[in-house]
Amino acid sequence: MVPGCDTREVLRERGQREVFCGLTGIIWLHRKIQDAFFLVVGSRTCAHLIQSAAGVMIFAEPRFGTAIIDERDLAGLADANDELDRVVTRLLERRPEIRLLFLVGSCPSEVIKLDLSRAAQRLSRTFSPKVRVLNYSGSGIETTFTQGEDACLASLVPELPQADAGKNALLVVGVLADVVEDQLRRLFSALGIGSVDFLPPRQSAHLPAIGPGTHFLLAQPYLADTARALEERGAKRLAAPFPLGVEGTTLWLKAVADAWSVPPGRFLEATKAARERAARAIAVYRQQLAGKRVFLFPDSQLEIPLARFLSRELGMELLEVGTPFLHRTHMAPELALLPRDTRLSEGQDVEKQLDRCRAQAPDLIVCGLGLANPLEASGFTTKWSIELVFTPVQAYEQAADLAELFARPLVRRMRLAV
Ligand code: SF4
Repeated sequence: MVPGCDTREVLRERGQREVFCGLTGIIWLHRKIQDAFFLVVGSRTCAHLIQSAAGVMIFAEPRFGTAIIDERDLAGLADANDELDRVVTRLLERRPEIRLLFLVGSCPSEVIKLDLSRAAQRLSRTFSPKVRVLNYSGSGIETTFTQGEDACLASLVPELPQADAGKNALLVVGVLADVVEDQLRRLFSALGIGSVDFLPPRQSAHLPAIGPGTHFLLAQPYLADTARALEERGAKRLAAPFPLGVEGTTLWLKAVADAWSVPPGRFLEATKAARERAARAIAVYRQQLAGKRVFLFPDSQLEIPLARFLSRELGMELLEVGTPFLHRTHMAPELALLPRDTRLSEGQDVEKQLDRCRAQAPDLIVCGLGLANPLEASGFTTKWSIELVFTPVQAYEQAADLAELFARPLVRRMRLAV
């Protein structure tokens, strides 16, 4: 099938939706970029969201915070730029280890039309070269849940140094847990692929260079703006399914192997042990999950790759696969693997979707936190989609952990029923 030419019907809905805003991404972004600080310019509501989403993961000195826009700012009685400069100066004096500061826009900062890009330029001039100041929006008006990561990484792209002409390199794009990144580095090395970088890097001083010799591979399915920005810098995207499950990981690595002309025998040899181990580990969960009927609400944009994994590797029946946005080009390799009759929906009209879901009485519902509690209360078994973003689930060694995330709620429900 020609990429981007999947012509299946998609139900498009544009009604009320139940999703977190893009501020949520700060929770996994701040753990990855270890010398960055995320300063949300927002309200007390934004501060509460971040605090409760971070939950037990709050460190003694967290690398995120909120500059509160109060009533005086909203009424235009105070100069929000002056206050922001004061907050940033105090923060950077107190936290000299910070090298990269993100000003993160929110609904309130958009409502008062605070120009954070100008603020970031102004503050960068003041604090460079020690600290780089960038901005992006995590507002619920502009972004859902995982789009905050896309906006953050897209803001980094203009900062990436230019690579030497003619230098071929691989760039893996999207936040991955360090343990996953290390496993992938070993696999790329076994394939003989020498120059591999990850975006974002663990330290802001190690921003990867890019240029026309860069091939990039998306590790997450929600990075449309970042991909576009990289392509504008001359980098080329390798089309592949996403590295979820044994099949997804194999095809994802194969896209790189083909671009680097790795002989098929070497590819099979380099991936054999991990592939076989992962296949054995998920077989246990296939016994528990095969034939179970699953309904996925739109939330994280991981839904289509997850549905492919659940259907093809665990034998689950897909009732509906919802996604907040469908990027047909990036999703083409995934769509080609989904059963032809899978009902796909894009966007949300939550009441209508709940009606469809209840009518089909699924064994398992994958949804956001806001829907999970009422659905559980009415007797359904749910899986929180946010957990799939917080947990390392990519690549071979995590394939069984991913399967287990879906088996666990069904096992718990069975135990409660006994
Ligand atoms: S950015 Fe908007 S949606 Fe997100 S917590 Fe703040 S006010 Fe709420």
